Amino acid sequence: MENVVSLPIKTLPIRTLMGPGPSEIHPRVLTALAQPAIGHLDPAFVSLMDEVKDLLRYAFQTENRLTFPVSGPGSAGMETCFTNIVEAGDKVVVARNGVFGQRMEEMATRLRADVVTIDDEWGQPVDPEKLEAALKANPDAKVVSFVHAETSTGALSDARTLAGIAQRYDCLTIVDTVTSLVGSPLYVDEWGLDAVYSGAQKCLSSVAGIAPVTVGERALKKISQRSEPVGTWFHDLGLIDSYWSEGSKRAYHHTAPVNSIFALAESLRMVRQEGLEKSWERHRHIAERLVEGLRAMGLQMLVEESGARLGQLNVVKVPDGVDEAAIRARLLNEDNLEIGAGLGPLAGKVWRIGLMGHSCRMENVERVLACLKRALNEPSQSQAIS
Ligand SMILES: *Cc1c(COP(=O)(O)O)cnc(C)c1O
Repeated sequence: MENVVSLPIKTLPIRTLMGPGPSEIHPRVLTALAQPAIGHLDPAFVSLMDEVKDLLRYAFQTENRLTFPVSGPGSAGMETCFTNIVEAGDKVVVARNGVFGQRMEEMATRLRADVVTIDDEWGQPVDPEKLEAALKANPDAKVVSFVHAETSTGALSDARTLAGIAQRYDCLTIVDTVTSLVGSPLYVDEWGLDAVYSGAQKCLSSVAGIAPVTVGERALKKISQRSEPVGTWFHDLGLIDSYWSEGSKRAYHHTAPVNSIFALAESLRMVRQEGLEKSWERHRHIAERLVEGLRAMGLQMLVEESGARLGQLNVVKVPDGVDEAAIRARLLNEDNLEIGAGLGPLAGKVWRIGLMGHSCRMENVERVLACLKRALNEPSQSQAIS
């Protein structure tokens, strides 16, 4: 046993993370993660759960009672919202302007919803006029879903306007804020968003595998009127609510990932300390420096219009004749710097440079610009040798 304890921990390379997530984790959050575990029904853990819910309400700008972290990645947050709200036969309008809109469509289809899609070119925000036209043509639609910040393209959609249209047509909204939470202005209550999910490893800079979710009263009413129980046991909000809610007996549902919740709490406290507005402004301001630097190198952004361009995820076009994968591999191997590849129709054509949460710092902007410049202008050492 003593021998086992004295063995060195197997170490992995230390990377600068500037891809589409996970982002770098602040040392304070890593320290919180490494605290000794406590029981998931320990009174000390129960009070931490209450603190986390309050901090999440601040991050989402909501008073929703049902605001908590789903045990699972961002996709589990998506699955929670869809499986509870959407019933077989419901007409659901899904906006597709990137990978995550497609994933929403896939989930709604698997739930045997009657899916109507509206499409925008990758790199464009969701067009409110297309949503309005789709709802006019489908007055029986019950749910509208869209992605606030499309991480596959770097486009930010106007969630307030889209939700306003959905409400006029009596539809609930399911909104993906995985990349927008804490990185872009988001006001769940003021904008009237009904079921909203996020992820911890993007602008919250916490550990992957936790999905903050908030669900409002209108959505809860639809869930309470379901003709059949929710099709998944694990994501049934009614069951989960009895573990996460104040006043209830905190019945065991599943073992909460206690150490991940320690980490989430610490990253949310850091958001609270910085202040949401300051965090949004930091993401905007530091990304501007990155975009200026990329343009000065002669590179072009996929999303040109600055109002629709995300700061936390910058999609830049690969110049003609450049092997994009070789450049990424070089940054990773020679500089320990990760940037992201293009997905779907953008594969091979773009790089995705993340500035999320703790990764969103001037020193990282300077680093990625210097490394990219060198990789694009100098042959790699292996090529030079051969
Ligand atoms: C990353 C991401 C997801 C999925 O999150 P996972 O934690 O990978 O499951 C969903 N939507 C958007 C917009 C994302 O960026």
